[in-house]
Amino acid sequence: QAVLLEYGMALEKAGDMRGAVTAYHSERGISNQLFEKQRQKAVYELQEKYEAEKKQRQIELLSRENQLKSTEIDNRRLQQRVWWLLALVLAMGSAIVGLLYRKVRHANVQLKVKNQELKRQSSRDPLTALYNRRHFQEFMRSHAGKPVHPPAGNDMVGALFLLDVDHFKHINDRYGHAAGDLVLTTIAETLHDVLRETDMIVRWGGEEFLAFLPAVARDGLDDIALRILNGVAAQVIHYQGQTIEVHVSVGFAPYPLAPLGQPLTWERSVNLIDMALYLAKAHGRNRAYGLRGFRHVERTTLEAVEQDLERAWRDGHVDLSVVLGKADGKGNAGSAPAAASDGAKGACATAAAS
Ligand code: GH3
Ligand code: MG
Ligand code: MG
Repeated sequence: QAVLLEYGMALEKAGDMRGAVTAYHSERGISNQLFEKQRQKAVYELQEKYEAEKKQRQIELLSRENQLKSTEIDNRRLQQRVWWLLALVLAMGSAIVGLLYRKVRHANVQLKVKNQELKRQSSRDPLTALYNRRHFQEFMRSHAGKPVHPPAGNDMVGALFLLDVDHFKHINDRYGHAAGDLVLTTIAETLHDVLRETDMIVRWGGEEFLAFLPAVARDGLDDIALRILNGVAAQVIHYQGQTIEVHVSVGFAPYPLAPLGQPLTWERSVNLIDMALYLAKAHGRNRAYGLRGFRHVERTTLEAVEQDLERAWRDGHVDLSVVLGKADGKGNAGSAPAAASDGAKGACATAAAS
């Protein structure tokens, strides 16, 4: 192109205008060709560069995609692991909760049994397994204000019987304390035999028993007293090759007692029955004294009766029935007492004894 340009210029200078124009045309032609080639080359290079960048971008994209996919897979794996772990923790948790629940339930059952046992122990006498005095007091307290009335009907009443073993100290002294204990458990069994299941039998003290009968025939109290006296006396207690004879004295009364139309508290009733028992002891033992009722209490005071029952009996303010246990051949009972031998009381004593 440069040669042609120089040639054209030389021809021009030399005045060969035609030759110069031809040379210029040739030069333009070459110049255009060159330009076209360079342009094509540039386009080609540009295209190549573009292709290379495109590929690079695609590769980057693919690798990013790959990364994304592998991250996704990792995430999924992690998620699965988390789920598995969660399931495991849940399973273990529920197993532990189940185990704890079973343990707690077992402990609760044991606690309930223990509580029942404790309650039983707190309400029972350990030697005879009878109710203890506290249980009876609680029972009466819980029925305070709503006296334990027998079922409807005038011929049914409640009743309280208080027993004391005769000469128990002598039994202890002669046969030993263990023999005394055997006597007490035997009397407890006898009372279970003689009385009903619905009757409450209580170990009142050392050798004293109390029975609360919620519903008995009004005129059947003497019979029950006799059954108790003879039931105890009939027990032959064998202890280390020896035979022990036992008798009890009894005080009893219908419950509730209402000398002035108003029922007495159970404590006052038991106190009166205790006095009747004391009379039974004083008049020869192996017998039962029962408060049948009050007469003309308005002529005296209830306090006076409570202080001296024997006097009130003699004065005719209280009506006592006397029930004698079978004579044991030693003159322990079987005869009417001095105080009971007059009038209606003597007749009662004889009737009951027979
Ligand atoms: P009474 O006929 O007047 O009732 O005379 P008693 O000897 O039965 O009465 P006392 O009150 O003099 O004696 C009661 C005895 O009972 C005294 C006590 O040592 C004994 N005792 C109390 N509790 C028990 C016990 O659980 N077991 C034994 N073996 N003896 C007891
Ligand atoms: Mg006593
Ligand atoms: Mg006694």
